[in-house]
Amino acid sequence: MLKSIRNLAKGSSPEDTFDTVTGLLDRSAFISNLKEIIADREIQRERIFGIANIEQFKLINHSYGNDAGDFVLQELAKRMSIELGEDACIARMGNDEFGFITTDKTADQVKKICENINMSFSDTALPWRDKKIRLHVKFGIVLIDESEHDINQILKSANEAIYSAKYDGGDTICEYDQDDTAILRRSGNLQHAITVDRWIARNLFLLYLQPIVSLANPKKLSHFEVLIRGKDNDGKIITPGKLISAAEDFNLTTKLDKWVIRNLFEWIDQHSSDMPNGVRFAVNISALSINDHELCDYIIDLVEEKNINPRQISFEITERVAISNMKRCYDFMSRLRKRGFLFALDDFGTGYCSFKYIKTLPFDIIKIDGSFIQNIDSDASNYAIVKAVTDISKAFNRKTIAECIENEKVAEIAHELGIDYGQGYLYSKPIPIDALIVKT
Ligand code: C2E
Ligand code: MG
Ligand code: MG
Repeated sequence: MLKSIRNLAKGSSPEDTFDTVTGLLDRSAFISNLKEIIADREIQRERIFGIANIEQFKLINHSYGNDAGDFVLQELAKRMSIELGEDACIARMGNDEFGFITTDKTADQVKKICENINMSFSDTALPWRDKKIRLHVKFGIVLIDESEHDINQILKSANEAIYSAKYDGGDTICEYDQDDTAILRRSGNLQHAITVDRWIARNLFLLYLQPIVSLANPKKLSHFEVLIRGKDNDGKIITPGKLISAAEDFNLTTKLDKWVIRNLFEWIDQHSSDMPNGVRFAVNISALSINDHELCDYIIDLVEEKNINPRQISFEITERVAISNMKRCYDFMSRLRKRGFLFALDDFGTGYCSFKYIKTLPFDIIKIDGSFIQNIDSDASNYAIVKAVTDISKAFNRKTIAECIENEKVAEIAHELGIDYGQGYLYSKPIPIDALIVKT
């Protein structure tokens, strides 16, 4: 019986189709073989399904050329075939993804094999021409239940396992366990994280802008806050809340921040002559980005490449992030401030509301969180908090912005308290960035 699996992999069926680079089954042939194997009641032993994914494969193609990418794929295919053995059915499922199913091994044996494969690549770099390529391969495996016949569910579980292996930290391999709370906790977010990853890769996010105006003269624009939006399959524009928390859970926020910064700078570069003079933009920076040593270099390189004046750009860092790592935050801000970028402390009041950050970190602007502003006209304690924050900010010579101004009454009180700028639906909801283009 086991032989028949191998025979299937060798293409005993005339309908089988193969991947031209690795010689393995391609995705469609693999799926139809999987269906047969899963439905075969004569197989008495455990069926282990797995997915392997090469980390940073795009980077390998990009840095060394597509020949190197093909070579890497062939090496992984070879090693998987040797290690998983004669009876495994192996396929190239897509770009950097392989699938396999075994029926002659336990889950522990398969895990060990996967670890060995990854170690063999990470310990000894592959020689490629005069270069050396070090590969990291992640695996997600699923023990197929006898009653499980739904291929899509099996693929989904393997994908969830691989995302856990990828984003949970250093793990090379993760086995799907439907009772594993860590996976369950993530599975709701997983779909959002996959969406974020896909939208970044396909450039499907949209940049929106919301004006921030002078409270003394609301017709006078200070700058725009850049807010990301997504477009779902029905063309509906969606706000980022769930996507950002999923991106955080899967360590994708720096990638997202880079996408925003690159696309904003490219947009400014392209449209500098057809937008009003002196327009400035505030960009949100997420928690993980502060810890990313490369992000500063990325921004500095990009500002030169795209001919952007750093004075046009401020970065918003939330109080929660500033609290979590003041030293890192200080270093990040100092490097970029030297280049001329400005900084705002976002959502002030939602963390410890400590005046220490205002004193220690070189923020130019303090943004008072919308939850204190929205009902400032009816909530005496919020009024007191906003007044104290404004007074302290002024004493430290920082500018202030009131978030979420929704009506004239609130705008008036904020102005009376001495807050410099306002942002909120009273002035404008976020609008697509292209609305800024001045038609000539
Ligand atoms: P934030 O930086 O505090 O942005 C202000 C949020 O308040 C925005 O929500 C904005 O649409 C909303 N808002 C503005 N005026 C009003 C108002 O009058 N009333 C009410 N109820 N809300 C108002 P949005 O766009 O949904 O963004 C939510 C959060 O997601 C942002 O909070 C920010 O932390 C994050 N975010 C948005 N875009 C990006 C981005 O490009 N990168 C990163 N890292 N985070 C982003
Ligand atoms: Mg913000
Ligand atoms: Mg805010």
